[in-house]
Amino acid sequence: MSRVVNFSAGPSMLPEPVLQRAREEMMDWRGAGVSVMEMSHRGKEFLSIAENCESNFRELMGIPSDYQLLFLQGGATSQFAMIPINLLKDRDSALYVCSGSWSKKAIGEATRFCRVIVAASSEQEGFSTIPPVLSWNLDPSAAYLHYTSNETIGGVEFQEIPEVGSVQLVADMSSNILSRMVDVTRFGLIYAGAQKNLGPSGITVVIVRQDLIGETGPNVPSMFDYRLHAENQSMLNTPPTYNWYILGLVLEWINGEGGIEAIEDRNIRKAAKLYSAIDASSFYSNAIDPKYRSRMNIPFLLADRNLEDKFLQNAKQEGLVGLKGHRSVGGMRASIYNAMPESGVAALVSFMEEFERSAG
Ligand SMILES: *Cc1c(COP(=O)(O)O)cnc(C)c1O
Repeated sequence: MSRVVNFSAGPSMLPEPVLQRAREEMMDWRGAGVSVMEMSHRGKEFLSIAENCESNFRELMGIPSDYQLLFLQGGATSQFAMIPINLLKDRDSALYVCSGSWSKKAIGEATRFCRVIVAASSEQEGFSTIPPVLSWNLDPSAAYLHYTSNETIGGVEFQEIPEVGSVQLVADMSSNILSRMVDVTRFGLIYAGAQKNLGPSGITVVIVRQDLIGETGPNVPSMFDYRLHAENQSMLNTPPTYNWYILGLVLEWINGEGGIEAIEDRNIRKAAKLYSAIDASSFYSNAIDPKYRSRMNIPFLLADRNLEDKFLQNAKQEGLVGLKGHRSVGGMRASIYNAMPESGVAALVSFMEEFERSAG
């Protein structure tokens, strides 16, 4: 068996100890005589998995008891619709910060349900920065303000939670949840699809303040109603049990690594190492405003774009894969989520230096 260093943006690499544990428990989960995939979601074994997952999540992120933690399906993309469906209540507009591809997608979907007010946009700047919060439109009649805390494709990340006064804050944290400390009480709602920092695709986490959950309209499907999911402990229907279990293993792994503080320190070192290699060379470049450079997704260009294919081929020979940039941006992108070890980033940096020496 030989595993590569996987820089894929999502689904992305999982911590190796998690995969090993899943393998050990595959045929017989802790004496139950069945795999987690074969268990009833209502049996005591699976309920213990779900409860452990929830309590670890609450402890790691510091989620207070007046917030519901929901484990849903449909990815972050379903949340693009569920958020307006559930949070608009008697209002007809919502504020959206447009900082890249994912916020654009969220805006597109919200437009089906409400009047979207673009609070601020960096589209003119090619999504290379974040407009200063002081310039945002914070219209108090809007139901909430939505922003994307890390733009996975562009590589732009909020380094602080924006100060928006009394407006309800909603954040898509799909690609940076649990990568840094976050004060949950600043938010009305946080959501994240799992396949970047949490586990396999197919499970989506929603953290929502209890008082925001309430009546939706008469035509809203049950699966799109937070209240029904909350009342049924995220078991309104059969949940994605195996994904939930793997998510639980990832949280146990984070605990074992020293919690989010330790993970965040490591993420800071990893990103600094890669950005300084890029900045130190005229062969590589990253155009993102240094104040908002992502710690998770690091896009970079080669000065000679004709060398891109060769770069990817040679990298692959060295066991470094998943480095091709998103088709909308081009170039390269290294996604270095929680599960990426420092040695993986070090291997990439050495390869980049060597490639520059030989090809540059
Ligand atoms: C990947 C991603 C999404 C889409 O997630 P799905 O689970 O595929 O719906 C949304 N927002 C961000 C920030 C992402 O990185």
